[in-house]
Amino acid sequence: MGSQSGQFMPAVSRFIGEETPELVEGHGATVVDADGNEYVDFFAQHAAMSHGYSHPEVVSAVSEQTERLNFSAYDFPTEPSRRLTERLAEVAPGDLERSYFVNSGSEAVEVALTLARRATGNHEFLALGEAFHGRTYGARSLVGWSGYREGFGPFLPSVTHVPSYNCEEFPGGEPETGAEYAEILEYILEYQVSDVAAFIAEPMFGTAGNIPAPEGYFKRIKEICDEHGILFIADEVITGFGRTGKPFGIDHYDVEPDVMTTAKALGGGMPIGATIATPEVADAFESMDYFSTFGGNPVATAAGLASLDVFEEEDLAGNAAEAGEYLLDQLHDLQSRYPFVGEIRGRGLLVGVDLIDPDDGSPLAKEHSLDLRRDAIDRGLILPAGQGWNGNTIRINPPLVIDDDELDRGVAVMDECFELLA
Ligand code: PLP
Repeated sequence: MGSQSGQFMPAVSRFIGEETPELVEGHGATVVDADGNEYVDFFAQHAAMSHGYSHPEVVSAVSEQTERLNFSAYDFPTEPSRRLTERLAEVAPGDLERSYFVNSGSEAVEVALTLARRATGNHEFLALGEAFHGRTYGARSLVGWSGYREGFGPFLPSVTHVPSYNCEEFPGGEPETGAEYAEILEYILEYQVSDVAAFIAEPMFGTAGNIPAPEGYFKRIKEICDEHGILFIADEVITGFGRTGKPFGIDHYDVEPDVMTTAKALGGGMPIGATIATPEVADAFESMDYFSTFGGNPVATAAGLASLDVFEEEDLAGNAAEAGEYLLDQLHDLQSRYPFVGEIRGRGLLVGVDLIDPDDGSPLAKEHSLDLRRDAIDRGLILPAGQGWNGNTIRINPPLVIDDDELDRGVAVMDECFELLA
């Protein structure tokens, strides 16, 4: 995770350092730099550009709202913020009806943590060993990588990290089913941690390498949470709004969370996040002095409404499911030709490709990934290589509007770059 070091502006561009192209224009899944070079984008700006760059519906909603009323703080709700709450209640699973608007995914997580403490009266949190939930203090304390917490203690919220279905050596041996993986939560709640407010999880690991949970996993997790009276928070900041081929990642598991955190795709490019809760849980926030001046502002919520329209009109979830299948087929073809291509996995357009040392299966050294990023950019592809838990995953999460031609071009560039690496 070395490329993510903190920087004040003016920052050295992070993607490939000084040589990172300066982007000036974008449409669909294609971006253009200041020199007029075009790139197919397999990155979608940390999976936030699900609708494609500068989607006309989002652009006109933002421009119309900016002309009419460009700002109103939380004290004066506006029509877009009211309507966005209603629309989110329609699309979100189960009884998730009340939305609390913020400006980013990390903030949405902060709200969820505070809400869970208020609603349960407890103060401990559980998160998965390879979890990523953001970079603010509370959200960061949930992240599984210990390196993320270095220099931030000692007064971080108290979090116990639960061994996940991706854990290299699962305690007591490798389970066979998703439900069996989930049983460890029962053990932890029974014997190790008390006063727990919530268990938070991404329905599919994003930052750890785009890794889906096994079938049945979250169903059992939710049952255990219910039995112990703790809240289940689904962090859908990446997986929300069609990314995994269903409206929300948790829909793959037929589970209704108590709280859901969303951001990224919600704004279609505008900064907005929403913590969505059941009325019962949301009521616990009534007397809290907790607001963000810009949270739920009319322009961001108008963008959110337009992005939900596009999500439905263009069936972004259906696109992601279809394009994801197509992409996986092509990647398996690459895998059959290059011995350093290890596991390939994914759901919808959240796909992970591990690069390994063919001799012993260990993660391929990171410098190869940086070369890959550079070689790909030179050939017109933004390819986020060198990511994930071991730093050896190519995380492919393009805009959900990507077409077959763009996917073909992207995979053809990967093929050329792999040839150089072989
Ligand atoms: N939660 C998850 C699952 C994420 O992947 C991220 C960011 O990648 C966040 C929260 C934090 O979102 P933001 O960068 O908008 O603060």
